[in-house]
Amino acid sequence: MGDDLLAILKTRAIVIKTQEFKENDKLVWLFTEDFGKITAIAKGARKSKSRYISSTLPCCYGEFVLFKGKNLHTINEVTIIDSFQQLLRNLDTITYASYFNELIDITLENDEIHKELFKDLVTAFYFIKNDVMDIEILARAFEIRILKATGYELNFNKCVRCRKKITISNYIDLISYGPICSECEKLNSIYISNPTYNTLKFLNNFGMDRINRIIVSKTSKLELYKILSLIISQNYTRKPKSLEMFDYLDKF
Ligand SMILES: [Zn+2]
Repeated sequence: MGDDLLAILKTRAIVIKTQEFKENDKLVWLFTEDFGKITAIAKGARKSKSRYISSTLPCCYGEFVLFKGKNLHTINEVTIIDSFQQLLRNLDTITYASYFNELIDITLENDEIHKELFKDLVTAFYFIKNDVMDIEILARAFEIRILKATGYELNFNKCVRCRKKITISNYIDLISYGPICSECEKLNSIYISNPTYNTLKFLNNFGMDRINRIIVSKTSKLELYKILSLIISQNYTRKPKSLEMFDYLDKF
């Protein structure tokens, strides 16, 4: 019991969400490299002279030292690696950075370790910061990573119905998340054009470091968005809301 009170966690982490707590404190949801998603309290973080002011802002990436608690940990020290506050430079970058954080928040269980996904989130934030690639495609790639990490991996080698090897398809099955060949029943599937199919397959098969030079047409972007948001809304109890604003803007 005594040991439990003294346990210290040290890990790199990104702040995905915060909330005011009590008089002066802040609750901070962290996606950590070594312990997955955890919640911590930053005591006195809302006082004007707090040393946690900049290190507990959403998107901040740092080395965190925490006192382990049963459910709630306590932040003891933070060394900022990159505050990523440039991610908040315009409406697009704010919205997408918030969306990435929201995806982590709604799709992962607490204390589930996802080291690869952590690396992917850090990479995605550096890509946004340095304006390396199309932010929409980056979001689709990250959605694919999330699906993979949480057990809904897309699989492109075989028809999901008859198991025949295929290289192209115009239908993605919405139960098994794979292609359906031309001869099989298309029930419960969504249409996909050939270029979009190839893009989806590429984003699925290659790591974040390989996707930054891909060029995707407007039509394919829309198709990818529809397919992936459908799969995401089917699988998690909470639906992401960050991108809804774009749907709203698109109507004008
Ligand atoms: Zn088939």
